[in-house]
Amino acid sequence: MPGETLLEVDDLSVFYGSSQALGEVSLDVDEGEIVSVIGPNGAGKTTLLESMSGLLPYEGSVRYQGQEVSERNVRALVGDGLLHCTEDRDLFPFFTVHQNLLMGGQRLGRSEREERLDYVYDLFPRLDERRSQEAETMSGGEQQMLAIGRALMGDPDLLMLDEPTQGLAPVIIEDISDAVEELRSEGLTLLLAEQNTTFAMQHADRLYLVETGTIELSGTDEEFKNNDYVRDAYIGIT
Ligand code: ATP
Repeated sequence: MPGETLLEVDDLSVFYGSSQALGEVSLDVDEGEIVSVIGPNGAGKTTLLESMSGLLPYEGSVRYQGQEVSERNVRALVGDGLLHCTEDRDLFPFFTVHQNLLMGGQRLGRSEREERLDYVYDLFPRLDERRSQEAETMSGGEQQMLAIGRALMGDPDLLMLDEPTQGLAPVIIEDISDAVEELRSEGLTLLLAEQNTTFAMQHADRLYLVETGTIELSGTDEEFKNNDYVRDAYIGIT
């Protein structure tokens, strides 16, 4: 069952210069939920996640754990458990898997960091097998696992994943799916941005459809599955 509201967005608008990318978006995420933002290329999903995690200036209000995001710096937000795994993954390409994970656990004490490392290696055995491999030499799917693993090293209360399945083979998407379900069973709160509607609906408790910078539809996974417009326009599109 969802808990208290962790993230509350009211009338959020974002501009790149004079060009408006998001217009008066409102959404919320409760503790323990998996929420997904879906929508086509260029709809504004990345802009939405980046503004919610303090990476972009915005108009309106974004409150994480009751505090306005724009009034805090990103480091403080990360320290309070708001972890964002960005679309381009932002790995350190010449660092090994292990070094990348250590970077994600910088703010932890030694024993907690070791525990988190064990946890991430249990969740993604492929990373365990490749501890000494440089990130840039890994496949796209392995890099995605590493990006998620590095964010998990920060011991998130809210984990945002931007397009975690983008460009990945079906067999790797299954591994990411299994990891997401494991995180759900542990009660972690997740916010996904996804063009892959099938993946999003498989995991999300609630969804928001974003088109050209505004929320066109919101509802439960069942409501989305039974919605004619969503079915016709999005299901099966990956
Ligand atoms: P994708 O799945 O392709 O990443 P998206 O739904 O995440 O798409 P955004 O990347 O948030 O969409 O883009 C939303 C709109 O903002 C698009 O029209 C895009 O061209 C524009 N945009 C994004 N980043 C910038 C930028 N740095 N400068 C100017 N316009 C931008």
